[in-house]
Amino acid sequence: MALRGAGVRSRLARRHPGQQTHDLRLLFVEALGQVSLAGWTVRVAVNDAPYADGSGGYWGWTDWNTSTILVSQLHIHQVFAHELFHVQLGPPSASHGESQWCSELSPWEIQQGQEDERAYLRCR
Ligand SMILES: [Zn+2]
Repeated sequence: MALRGAGVRSRLARRHPGQQTHDLRLLFVEALGQVSLAGWTVRVAVNDAPYADGSGGYWGWTDWNTSTILVSQLHIHQVFAHELFHVQLGPPSASHGESQWCSELSPWEIQQGQEDERAYLRCR
């Protein structure tokens, strides 16, 4: 689950969505380690916010019940790594309680020009 935030201009925005997710996954694995998507479906939606709940709309969503990652086509670059991190950490990560969100993912995302999630993740 990645909250909607200020848009970050994507270096990959003009590329095919499948190529973007492929390239981002390679970058992710190189920096943060292997993430198995065996049995998972990655769905790219044209909607700006393809998932919504009581607290608002989301650019990306990881659904453990259906083993599906859902990402907005317009925001793949900002949120796909966040969803991959959920898969890597497992279902307990739904509440972002693990310290690695702030110590590993967030600094790497900022370095990559992706979303700055420190406020959303309540990093100190
Ligand atoms: Zn999340």
